[in-house]
Amino acid sequence: MVDLASLTSLLAHPQKIVITTHHKPDGDALGSSLGLYHYLIQQGHHVNVITPTDYPQFFNWMPGNGEVIIYTGQPGVSAQLIEQAAIIFCLDFNALSRINESGELVRESKALKVMIDHHLDPEDFDDYRYWDINACATAQLVHQFIVHELKGGHYINQDVATCLYTGIMTDSGSFRFPSTTSAVHRIVADLIDAGAVNWRIHDLVYNNSSEERLRFLGHCLSQKLEVISEYNTALITVTRAELEQYHVITGDTEGIVNYALSVTGVRLAAFIVERKDQIKLSLRSKGDFPANEICKKYFNGGGHRNAAGGQSTQTLEQVTNQFKTILPEYKTLLIQ
Ligand code: 5GP
Ligand code: MN
Repeated sequence: MVDLASLTSLLAHPQKIVITTHHKPDGDALGSSLGLYHYLIQQGHHVNVITPTDYPQFFNWMPGNGEVIIYTGQPGVSAQLIEQAAIIFCLDFNALSRINESGELVRESKALKVMIDHHLDPEDFDDYRYWDINACATAQLVHQFIVHELKGGHYINQDVATCLYTGIMTDSGSFRFPSTTSAVHRIVADLIDAGAVNWRIHDLVYNNSSEERLRFLGHCLSQKLEVISEYNTALITVTRAELEQYHVITGDTEGIVNYALSVTGVRLAAFIVERKDQIKLSLRSKGDFPANEICKKYFNGGGHRNAAGGQSTQTLEQVTNQFKTILPEYKTLLIQ
C-alpha cells in the first residue's frame, strides 16, 4: 500500500493513466470512469478509459464516450496501455475477475493500482484504496476523492459533473435507495451548480428505449412474471430464444428485475436469463434481506445486500429450480 502523499506527488506530473471498470459497465461504472477521466485530462495526464466489454447504447451520449476503448474490440492496444501505465484506476469493482481477461494484465502491470469502490469484500490487488460500502455510487466516491483528497474541486467542470451525476443517479435508483443520504443530495446539488443538467441526463438515460426493448419488457411482465406469494418472491426467467425473438441487445434487460420487486409485498426479486455461454442471475431485495448472500453461496457471485448478481453453467430450468428450492431456507426473512 502507498499513502496519499505518494499518490498525489505522482499525480503532480503528467502520467500515463488507465481507468478501467467492471464488465458490462452500468451508469455508475461509466459515469465514475469518465468523470475521473475529464478531471485528470485537465492536469495534462495521458488518460485512457478501458472497459472489458461493450455497454448499453443509452450511455453513448456521455461526454468522452468516443474515447472509450472496449477491450474485446481492441485487446492488443488495451494490453499495451495497461502494461505501460504508471497508474491504473480500478473503479466500481474490487475483484480482478470482474474485468475478465484484462484482470490478469492489470495484476501483472507494474502500475500503481488505485481502487475506488463501494462493493463488499475487496480483493487484495491494489496499492491505494478509497473504499466505502456506504457510498451510494462509486461516482460519489470519485467526487469526494477529487474534492477532499486531491483538493481539486475547482476542476469539476460540466463534463466531470455530467458523468458523476449520471453515476449517482443510476446507482441510487434515481435518488430513492436508502444510501441516498443528505450528503449525497449536497454532492448532487454541487454537480448541478457545476453544469450537470439533471433533467436532460434523466431523459437521455431513461427515455431512450428502442421500441423492441419496450415490447420485450411487455412480454416479460405479461408472460414471464411469476409471483410466489408464500415467500414474497417474484421472478422473471428468459430463454435464449426469447432474447433472439425480441432482438435484445446489451442494456435491454437492465432494470427489468425492479418491476418484479415492485409487486406489493415482494421482498426478493430475481431476473434469470439464458446468456450465450451461461445463466446470469440478477437479484434485488428490500430491507435487510441479503440478496448478495444467495448469489455468493449458490451462484458464484456477490454484490450489495439489496442488489446482487451471479451466474451458473447449469441449464435455465435447473437454475430456476435451484433458486426456488433455496427460498424455504430464507422463509423467516422473507415473510416478516
Ligand atoms: P446486476 O444484477 O445489475 O448485474 O448486478 C447487481 C449488483 O451485483 C452490482 O452491484 C454488481 O456489481 C453485483 N454483481 C453482479 N454480478 C456479480 C458477480 O458475478 N460477482 C459479484 N461479486 N458481484 C456481482
Ligand atoms: Mn456502483
